[in-house]
Amino acid sequence: MRDLNDRVAVVTGGGSGIGRAIALALAPRNVRVVVVDRDASRAAAVEQEIVAAGGDGVGRSGDVTVEDDLVAARDLCLERWGRVDIVVNNAGVLAVGRPEDIPLTEWQRVIDVNLLSVVRSIHVFLPTLLAQGDGHVVNTASTNGLYPYSFDRLPYSATKAAIIAVSEALTLYARPRGVGVTCLCPGPVNTNIAEQVRFSGELTTIRPPRLGLVTAAAVGDLVVDAIESGRFLVLTHPEVHDILVRHAADPDRFLADELATFDHAD
Ligand code: NAD
Repeated sequence: MRDLNDRVAVVTGGGSGIGRAIALALAPRNVRVVVVDRDASRAAAVEQEIVAAGGDGVGRSGDVTVEDDLVAARDLCLERWGRVDIVVNNAGVLAVGRPEDIPLTEWQRVIDVNLLSVVRSIHVFLPTLLAQGDGHVVNTASTNGLYPYSFDRLPYSATKAAIIAVSEALTLYARPRGVGVTCLCPGPVNTNIAEQVRFSGELTTIRPPRLGLVTAAAVGDLVVDAIESGRFLVLTHPEVHDILVRHAADPDRFLADELATFDHAD
């Protein structure tokens, strides 16, 4: 999508962290942004930030587990601006615990928010983008879906790996029809994600990937560059590329090396 000027974007989970940063990076490029967040006050605060900086944006309360909320965001774009060009499926949650301690209800919740939200978005937004023959979808996955470094968040790992697979396959369908796809795979980013982590059983901490912490603002800029250039994979930590090469070259050896980094008391 070479020219972002006058485009219209929807960003889910746009009230905080990475989604907020993507919204705030799009707005100065003259993109009208609808910020959808379960937390209405955060969505409203980002709307205010966009407008105060001279941009055009709307903050809306919306839950990605409710298809009607995505329909409402799409219809708002179509009624107000006559189009929707960029859809950022970013809202996500974390459930943490030993594999045997995370209950099925937590699996279902994480799958509903992280993965089925992308499915709902495909149903709600993709027909509009295809009809325009022009658009871009961004799906937020994680390094946690790219390679194994933890056992403490299996539902999260499963949904993020699935988002990568869905995004790759969707590219094969959508790109020839004028719709680009970007899959964002962040390493550790300084956001509010820890606030909404739900722990099951006795685990009370999570094992981070052995990567440095980056700012959400830097990730927002990377995503805008990827939309403009049509890039598929966005890594927030360039060293992840070499980790992926090592993983692909010998998955058994990779797992053995990772296991060696665990303390047996973990
Ligand atoms: P965050 O908690 O700062 O922001 C997430 C936002 O999503 C919050 O404002 C929250 O209210 C909203 N949200 C949660 N559930 C929702 C729902 N059902 N409907 C609508 N909005 C909902 O977290 P973040 O770190 O910015 O996370 C954004 C995405 O980035 C997530 O998908 C997360 O898995 C992914 N990610 C984050 C990191 C990291 O280190 N922060 C790393 C890899 C991937």
